[in-house]
This record gives sequence, structure tokens and C-alpha cells, in this order.
Amino acid sequence: MNHSGTLYVVATPIGNLQDITLRALEVLKAVDVIAAEDTRHTSGLLAHFAIQKKLVAVHDHNERKAAELLVQRLQAGESIALVTDAGTPGISDPGAVVVQVVREAGLKVVPIPGPSAVIAALSASGIIAAGFTFYGFLPASGAQRRNSLQGLSGLQSTLVFYEAPHRVLDSVADMAQVLGAERRLTIARELTKTFETFHSCELGAASAWLESDSNQQRGEFVLLVEAAPPQDEKPVSDEAERILKLLLAELPLKQAVKLATDITGTKKNALYEFALQLKQE
Ligand code: SAM
Repeated sequence: MNHSGTLYVVATPIGNLQDITLRALEVLKAVDVIAAEDTRHTSGLLAHFAIQKKLVAVHDHNERKAAELLVQRLQAGESIALVTDAGTPGISDPGAVVVQVVREAGLKVVPIPGPSAVIAALSASGIIAAGFTFYGFLPASGAQRRNSLQGLSGLQSTLVFYEAPHRVLDSVADMAQVLGAERRLTIARELTKTFETFHSCELGAASAWLESDSNQQRGEFVLLVEAAPPQDEKPVSDEAERILKLLLAELPLKQAVKLATDITGTKKNALYEFALQLKQE
């Protein structure tokens, strides 16, 4: 493997250190430098695996500046592993800016996939859905949070949020208010750790469950909300109905239906049945 001038984006465990991949260990041992969100935190991980390596800091506040320095190192032929405190860099974590700047400089970026709380939560949730929308952290302010939830309320995919323990009660209350108390919520807490918990309930019952045991409000959370129910699609849209009525007023039924089909693209049978109903009325 030629590491020279390559940035590796390395996923690290989200709790259980055994979740590090063999490839992540190989890369962390082989690179010249590790760029870390918090060098002290990453030192602990490296010590556990008996890896000694030079560390440089890349956090939210200095990400662009740090990215430029990393580009200089890569251009000089060094190889770099980018890690965050837990999980996959760039997923509600620093990393995306570094990757963009490095790519724009025409340098090679290689993902080393591994843990991410969103995927761990979804994979063991038992939620059957066509897809999911990963939102990450909702805004801290109540009004902005409810506004964001409003924008997501109609999506017909599972909604996935990260949440901090001190905001989880407020967030589930807002979700119940904006998304509807009867939608199902799955709380995935402390994944891969000693007190890992999955709990599913209706959004309206979530606050009471969290309040019933203060331990359930501790630690790290992924919140998964059931998709919006499918909207009943009308076989004949309001616009098709309007056009059909206009045509029926001037033409025989069959001709009106044919023209309305051509104009609106609605199924002919649906329009025909609708026209018969209108005539009967
Ligand atoms: N980059 C990480 C990833 O790939 O999952 C996410 C980092 S983000 C700053 C931290 C948030 O991820 C936590 O507040 C929590 O919402 C979620 N999270 C991380 N580890 C978790 C765990 N073990 N169990 C549940 N949620 C977790």
C-alpha cells in the first residue's frame, strides 16, 4: 500500500473499543500523522492499541486553517489519518471541510469505514422503511427546533436525530407536538456500551418513559421517528376534476373524458367513473 500523500478518513468506536476495524488499526499504525478532533481523547484510543503517533488538532473552530496545513503535509508526501472522538468523521463531527479542501487540492482521500451511531441505531431498531433521513442534531432553541421539525413532518422516510442528554426531554416533547403524538419513536441509547438500551413507544408517551427513570436520560442518544403516513392519493386531482367539469358542460361524456385524459394525463378509467358519478349527481 502506498500511503504517500493520502488522507485516510478513519471511523473509530462509538463506545466499545473492540469495534475498531483491522484496517483502521493498520492505517493508524502506518500513517505519519493523525489529525484528531481532540488529541487527548485520541491519545487514549491509541494507548489502548499501543500505537504511538504524532497528533495534530482539527476541531470545528480551526477546521479550514487546519485543513490547509494538512494539505501542505500531504503535498510534502506525508500520509494522514483523520479521526474524531467517536464514530465516522464528517457525520455530525468535523471532517467534511478537511476532506473538501484536500480533494480540491487534487490529493487522494480514502475512507476507512466503521462505526457510526446512526447506522448502529437503525440496524438494530427493527424499523422497516423504504429509507431514512439523517438530520443530526436539531437546533438548541425551541422555536428553531420546532421549525426544523415542521419542515421534516411530511417526509415519508424514517427520521434520525442525534441528541444530547440535557435536551432529550425537550426534543421529544417538541417532536410529539409537531410530528404527532401517535407516531412511533425508537430511543437508541448508549449503543455498544454497558447500558445500551432500545425503547420504542408512541411519541406522546416518550417524555413519561424518560421521566420515569432518570438513568434513561443519561448518556448518548439516537432518536428514530417513524415516517409520515402515506397521503391518500386521489385518483382524480382537483385540477383534473376542474377540467373534466368544464368539458362535460360542453361535450358528450365520452368525448369530454377523452379530452380530459389527453390534457391532464389522468387514467381514462378513473376519469370515466368520475364523470359517470358527476352525471348521476
Ligand atoms: N461521528 C459520530 C458518528 O458517526 O456517529 C457522531 C458524533 S456526534 C458529535 C455525537 C452524537 O452521536 C451523540 O450526541 C449521540 O447523539 C450520537 N452517538 C454517538 N455515540 C453514540 C452511542 N454510543 N450511542 C448512542 N448515540 C451515540
